[in-house]
Amino acid sequence: MSQGDTDSSTPGAAAYRELLGELRQAALLRSSVALLGWDQETYMPRRGGALRAEQLAQLESLAHRQATQPKLAELFEAAESDAELTADPMVAANLREGRRRYERAVRLPEELVREFTETTSLASEAWRDARAQSDFSAFQPWLTKVVELTRRKAECHGASAPGEMYDALLDDYEPGADTASIDRVFGELRDWLVPFAAEIAASPGAPSDAPQRLRVPIERQKELNALVAERIGYDFASGRVDISAHPFCTFIGPGDTRITTRYTEERFADALSSTMHETGHALYDQGLPKDTRFGEPVADVASHAMHESQSRLWENQVGRSQQFWRWAMPEARRVLGDAVEGVTPEAMFGAVNRVEPSLIRVDSDEVTYHLHIMLRYDLERAMLAGDLAPADLPGAWNERMKRDLGLEVPDDARGCLQDVHWSHGYIGYFPTYTLGTLYSAQFWAAARRDLPDLEEGFARGEFAPLLEWLRERIHRQGSRFTPPELVERVTGAPLTPRPLMEYFEERLRPLYGI
Ligand code: ZN
Repeated sequence: MSQGDTDSSTPGAAAYRELLGELRQAALLRSSVALLGWDQETYMPRRGGALRAEQLAQLESLAHRQATQPKLAELFEAAESDAELTADPMVAANLREGRRRYERAVRLPEELVREFTETTSLASEAWRDARAQSDFSAFQPWLTKVVELTRRKAECHGASAPGEMYDALLDDYEPGADTASIDRVFGELRDWLVPFAAEIAASPGAPSDAPQRLRVPIERQKELNALVAERIGYDFASGRVDISAHPFCTFIGPGDTRITTRYTEERFADALSSTMHETGHALYDQGLPKDTRFGEPVADVASHAMHESQSRLWENQVGRSQQFWRWAMPEARRVLGDAVEGVTPEAMFGAVNRVEPSLIRVDSDEVTYHLHIMLRYDLERAMLAGDLAPADLPGAWNERMKRDLGLEVPDDARGCLQDVHWSHGYIGYFPTYTLGTLYSAQFWAAARRDLPDLEEGFARGEFAPLLEWLRERIHRQGSRFTPPELVERVTGAPLTPRPLMEYFEERLRPLYGI
């Protein structure tokens, strides 16, 4: 715990101190889980998968046991009933968030936690091979098992009917969200997005994607990506960048937040975009009040969607802006050399903002991206409710891709096997991508109001004002506020899709001449 929070003389304060000590023990175990998970995705030899699953399951069940000890209920109670103690807003937030998590955790038997962890670890290995060979049948038994275990989790959280399963899981990813509110927001966005995407598709003014087809040696790209990550604020003394099949960011502990990315020789801007995305996640983690409060609930991120808002903001609002490329293109020419000779910032700006339906979610443009999310949201909900058998997933996926994005899926690697989430058991996670994007657009509009020179600063390579704005309002707040409270405090309004629509209009209409 940090100094100065409490007056240690009261019984409530003593209980609070003991409680934070116990939570820190659980956090230490979980940070070891995170490190082993990072290693599994980056450097672990292929044959190490079985032992890794066992290690993860063992550590995760120890962490679960630590975090669900019956005595914690008494400690919570003693601390909560001390009015002097809870007058401190950080203490109150720690107790609120800590209790929410405690109550969720105690509903899950340790055996289920163990089985879930071991199964998803093995499933993610199976997924990697199945995807490499585009062989859904090799992954299907694992998916069936993951869905089954996820259902059991939902039942532990009180879901008794199939229609309630998804809601019961959402609290793990976006506390307070439910399918009714997501349906409403997604519906409003979709009604606007589909005709807008059609208008763009029909316009003759599509920018050229030629700069995205240049071949750039991967070693050079790594240098450029590191340069950009550092410039926007990533602290390399507290992190590192590696390569993985699916880019991710992982918080190991104070002073250790790692990201991964992936490269192809073509489309160097996609790798950069992915690095900026993960850097955005890392900046949030590096800005949390973890150094003094590691293990305290309040030192954690507010939610997964809030996390995603930070990554999407740097990836899109910053990384696809004209001003960003006015700074980045000369840097890219210097680092990448002849490969990008003659490419102007304007050409890059056009290329990275092309709207064109893609088979792959992480490579897709900003507009049609959300159709990918809505598709996954509908399909995972149907699987969980038992309306879609895992064996029928490829067919259902391909049909939706045709209907929603007009694309024929050539193989499952570029279809339902493309994302890692279901193998990890992250069912209920996908909506946070779109919710996070909506938050990001709303934050962006507020930051532009507060900082009039913001975008012109990007052209000079100045990103610190935006980072500081985010640090003060969002990162340092940890989970002191719930996501709806935080978005209201920062922007003065509840979550709405309007700012995202306005951002698309402002950026894409002039580019496409529509
Ligand atoms: Zn992300």
